[in-house]
Amino acid sequence: MRAFNAVGGTPRFFRSGAGAWLTDADGNEYVDLVLSWGPLLLGHAHPEVQAAVQAAVARGTSFGAPTEPEVELAEEITARTPVERVRFVSSGTEATMSAIRLARGFTGRDVVVKFAGCYHGHVDALLASAGSGLATFAVPGTPGVPASSTELTIVLPYHDRAAVTAAFAEHGDRIACLVTEAAPGNMGVIEPEPGFNRFLAETCAAHGALFVSDEVMTGFRAARQGQWGRDGALEGWAPDLMTFGKVMGGGFPAAAFGGRADVMALLAPEGPVYQAGTLSGNPVATTAGLTTLRLATDEVYEHVGAAAQTVKDAASQALDAAGVPHVVSSAGTMFSIFLLDPAELATGAVRDFADASRTDARAYAALFHSMLDQGVYLPPSAYEAWFLSAAHDDRAVQAVVDALPAAARAAARVHEGGAA
Ligand SMILES: *Cc1c(COP(=O)(O)O)cnc(C)c1O
Repeated sequence: MRAFNAVGGTPRFFRSGAGAWLTDADGNEYVDLVLSWGPLLLGHAHPEVQAAVQAAVARGTSFGAPTEPEVELAEEITARTPVERVRFVSSGTEATMSAIRLARGFTGRDVVVKFAGCYHGHVDALLASAGSGLATFAVPGTPGVPASSTELTIVLPYHDRAAVTAAFAEHGDRIACLVTEAAPGNMGVIEPEPGFNRFLAETCAAHGALFVSDEVMTGFRAARQGQWGRDGALEGWAPDLMTFGKVMGGGFPAAAFGGRADVMALLAPEGPVYQAGTLSGNPVATTAGLTTLRLATDEVYEHVGAAAQTVKDAASQALDAAGVPHVVSSAGTMFSIFLLDPAELATGAVRDFADASRTDARAYAALFHSMLDQGVYLPPSAYEAWFLSAAHDDRAVQAVVDALPAAARAAARVHEGGAA
């Protein structure tokens, strides 16, 4: 994505960031709606995060041993989510990889169920594409992943309850876990339909499998308590395991998984399931994450939500005015804009990867480049979320709003069949 492969053109090299703004190597300024793909909830170079990190660096960067910020960050996570125990790692990929190993160790089973279009990092077993029919085993999604790594993975269409039921009916006694993005954000943002995550949790429970909710993107981002705060907390259920990353690292490589105490007890050293990491929970990254989460108050989420609403409304108006059919799709403060005709969708909403794939990627590329030329850095792919931060003040939001009409007209010219 960062190579501009999906939109063409030359990727920008950035020199610095401050608040909502980025400066590239040529000195051009941009309002940033990527925010390092989500982590920077407070914006770039937040003064308090910076000061805390500088103090942590001065004390030494890594000890490979327990530290106080690690414990305090774990407490911050357990206070906001239903997880009872937390293990730190250095990336979201490691978090999901380790959660799946733990689920397999706990259940003594090997099969993993995931959804097409959900991304869980570059874990071999999860870089998988659906096999030739529903509830059949998957094939590698990229060269370099051996078939043996995906032959225990089942890939289903998102939101397809019948497919989930069928997969568990056929393979239930072999399924270790089902892993899903709590709200998909890697095929564009999709709001889970009411009760869908609960259905997944209940289906797993009925078959003795674990429900692994990947909140690497949504955690502490979609809302204060993540996507779980928008469904499980209200409906009274909890995932068995959860994964976190992005915002909880405050712009540093920190991620985590956690969950039920009895499941986490199986992890080494208490239990037999091996897991380790040289830099896991290191004091600089955990200080950045801890400081970020402590500053991420209700007011921050209200501000980010309101700024997101302003940008969504302005984008929708601009696209309407330019005659570009589109669907604005959000989950909490996260959203993306699909350039497709809602009349072509069964429910008018984007529900799965097949729906998302109808987006006009060429028109999006035109929109993206027009925004870039006008000083707004959108995600360089039609399938990524647009992010705002506490630092997106009126001036930054207005700069985005002002750029949208011309960008929508650029998208319209391509959408109508003009030259890319
Ligand atoms: C970003 C992401 C990951 C992977 O995290 P990395 O830190 O890039 O390895 C996993 N799951 C989800 C839902 C993500 O958005």
